[in-house]
Amino acid sequence: MTETEKLKDTLFDNKKNGWDNLSLEAKQNILKFGDEFIYFLNKCKTERESVSFIVDILNKNDFSDLRDKLVLAPGDKVYYVNRDKSIYAAIIGSKPIESGLNIVGSHIDSPRLDLKPNPLYEDSEFAYLKTHYYGGIKKYQWTTIPLSIHGVIVKRNGEKITVNIGEDDDDPIFTITDLLPHLAQEQVEKKLKDAIPGENLNLLVGSIPFGDEKDSQRVKLNILKILNEKYGIIERDFVSSELEIVPAFKARSLGFDKSMVAGYGQDDRVCAYTSLRAFIELHNPEKTAVCIFADKEEIGSMGNTGMESNVFDTFISELLNRTNTNRPNLLDKVFCNSKMLSADVDAAFDPIYASVSEKNNAAFFGRGVGLNKYTGARGKSGASDANAEYVAYVRNILEENGISYQISELGKVDVGGGGTIAYILANKGVDVIDCGIPILCMHSPYEISSKFDIYEAYRTYHAFMK
Ligand code: MN
Ligand code: MN
Repeated sequence: MTETEKLKDTLFDNKKNGWDNLSLEAKQNILKFGDEFIYFLNKCKTERESVSFIVDILNKNDFSDLRDKLVLAPGDKVYYVNRDKSIYAAIIGSKPIESGLNIVGSHIDSPRLDLKPNPLYEDSEFAYLKTHYYGGIKKYQWTTIPLSIHGVIVKRNGEKITVNIGEDDDDPIFTITDLLPHLAQEQVEKKLKDAIPGENLNLLVGSIPFGDEKDSQRVKLNILKILNEKYGIIERDFVSSELEIVPAFKARSLGFDKSMVAGYGQDDRVCAYTSLRAFIELHNPEKTAVCIFADKEEIGSMGNTGMESNVFDTFISELLNRTNTNRPNLLDKVFCNSKMLSADVDAAFDPIYASVSEKNNAAFFGRGVGLNKYTGARGKSGASDANAEYVAYVRNILEENGISYQISELGKVDVGGGGTIAYILANKGVDVIDCGIPILCMHSPYEISSKFDIYEAYRTYHAFMK
């Protein structure tokens, strides 16, 4: 090395591609972990499916339902399921809870199309289900792709029917039509955001009429007859259902080198999965470790399954009660002593759309887990901006453990912005930084991540909670 090279090596913040200098074994581990994540993605396309998968994994790893554990001691592992749509889990530390929690928080809801409360109608001898999109989507991306229906229908008597249709090879799928290019002259002149109006996102579900030609709405009737035979429901039962329309295609390895994962719902199930894997491998931590798998992040975290609700606070209060350490106002103190990684995905640099990013402060595939000191938009408005002292604390853990990480902003100044659940916990007094996996095509029906970054996120969450 020349003197200049030596000095550069010492002083520059050299960003390296993580795939370089990996042992064969390390590389195989990373690819294997990515494949296990693909299995999870294919099993869990909604928040409810994620909750039931996570509960299953927790039960197999010595966790108990908090409701069954009246007394908690260090090393105990518990979880609380919030209305089948979000879940909080904890491993009681050897230090008292009031010394603070180490929290990793992700969300398990993803952008999609929800059915309207009165969804079924017939037009020109087609049967359709009307939808209302959930979260930030580019509507044109949801036409002419195979779609499946997931969710629950709850009958008046409380009987709950689970629906999952369009995933098995034998299942039918559904789709939303778009105009043929031959007749789209007017449509293609429109702005991208206006070309497919929300009210056109109607799911095509049937075309065979029932019964006698002189009757009306016979295709709709035939669909209801099929649904009645399959699920025992009538049209009114849609009123008390939550049916979500999601892409039916399978998550897959992407690229000749299989280095990436392509699949729906990686925002934010990629962080949910990596934190879950890190969490179940954790035993007897000093500080109480907590994992959050939140619902409703994509629509602002409101409602009793979103992080804006008090249910999470109640969960932590119950940990204090059941370790017999609670006293007035202690919860506030617990939060002020706590630290959190807000485990949510980050926008990855896309060279095809390079103009929206500022390359010095963009997240790149293969450079490891991505930190966002702040999110927000237009002069950091609405941002939870992590304190320098806390960034140093997190950075120290990452560097001590030889974990690849990068720190970035979501796009150029004034180009756009976004948010996560970070601010909600920060407002309670917790030290929080966003820390997740860079994603291409975020919020599309087919998002892309790097298996290297996925593995580094898993290592990050483990090191943080340990
Ligand atoms: Mn997210
Ligand atoms: Mn999102």
